[in-house]
Amino acid sequence: MKSGDRIRVATATEELEGRLMPSTRSGYLVLKLDSGYNIGIDESKIKNKELVKAAEPAASKETSVEQKKGLKKIAILHTGGTIASKIDYSTGGVIAQFSAEDMLNLFPELTDIANITSRQIASMQSEMMRFAHHNLIAREVAKEVENGVDGVIVTHGTDTLHYSSAALAFILEGLSVPVLLVGSQRSSDRGSTDAADNLLSAAYFIAESDFAGVGICMHENSDDANNLILPATKSRKMHTSRRDAFRPINTTAIARVNYAEKNISFISEYEKRNKKTITLKLIKEDIKVGIVKVHPNISADQFAFFSGYDGLVLEGTGLGHIPNQKVDDASAENAKIQKAVEKLVADGTVVADSSQCIYGRVHMNVYTPLRELQDIGVVGHLSDMTPETTFIKLAWLLSNYSKDEAKKLLTENLRGEITERTEKETFLV
Ligand code: GLU
Repeated sequence: MKSGDRIRVATATEELEGRLMPSTRSGYLVLKLDSGYNIGIDESKIKNKELVKAAEPAASKETSVEQKKGLKKIAILHTGGTIASKIDYSTGGVIAQFSAEDMLNLFPELTDIANITSRQIASMQSEMMRFAHHNLIAREVAKEVENGVDGVIVTHGTDTLHYSSAALAFILEGLSVPVLLVGSQRSSDRGSTDAADNLLSAAYFIAESDFAGVGICMHENSDDANNLILPATKSRKMHTSRRDAFRPINTTAIARVNYAEKNISFISEYEKRNKKTITLKLIKEDIKVGIVKVHPNISADQFAFFSGYDGLVLEGTGLGHIPNQKVDDASAENAKIQKAVEKLVADGTVVADSSQCIYGRVHMNVYTPLRELQDIGVVGHLSDMTPETTFIKLAWLLSNYSKDEAKKLLTENLRGEITERTEKETFLV
């Protein structure tokens, strides 16, 4: 028996079935169970071991996609992530591996929905992405739009998908067609993968709706019934593993897609397809923006560290607070924090406030300590952007506008990132 074979193993207490993985510990056999988890079994306890199915060599033939009359044109740009991954039986891990052709072979139904062209523009887990990759994706999307496609799907790892969607929304000014980011929480070679539904729903939505702009297409629930089209600048990965990990924050989804029933229902207002032309407003690849998450007992040097940065996002507590007041002998450090932030702003770093509550709005007028932050030039009052969108927006603003303009525009709604009113039904949806 070799790595990748499906085998059944019996011990005195249990019977387990799964894929044989390479073992890193002698005397132990490692099985990848259908749940995706690996289990190590002490070989001396094994009573019986049988082969269920030998591993098949991975096939990767090219698909030549014939163009069908009357169908819309969709370009799929692959960047990597779990959606493009399969289990590597030599290491037991999940690696980015599927090529653009493999992906079309895996989901041939896509070619019934639209005329698909599929290209690989990157191959990475999304936590590896930098501003250069956001710019790369934006440039490739713009090329496709200029070539006349009716929409673009960008496949992407889920970890930072919401940073990329926000970046694309800001960078691609004047987008006339839909651009949907699609990921999956289970790799595409698993029976339980959510990749198929996410991709098919995205393609169906592009082919059948009049939506224009950047969005995210992921599961609404943990079953396969509905997908949501989520707003690019107001969504977030809220769970490490659930298929419905992506939720709208401080707003609702844009639309619900039921691919099986061929049904699209819009939930919110949206921009329609139009005749605009794209202006690329890229993020400077050497721009330096940081995020500092406030916590009890934080020290002033954690703020001073960002000296010389172009921008800093404060992930404050509650309404956007940082510990910036000395209230007794034990809190002298807090006064130093106020001084450190004051120095950052005075030296030219644009400091933007956000809240680690995630939901709700920054409000810098309610309590004196936050008024004091405003007084020294910290911006963010009334923003309901997530810290992640604040981070991307600040980097993008500082790449394309003067510091004064960036401070002003941070709290103006440019791409749907700031809502006018906080609606109570948008909490935990
Ligand atoms: N960490 C990886 C990524 O974001 C895998 C997660 C995923 O794609 O779901 O690319």
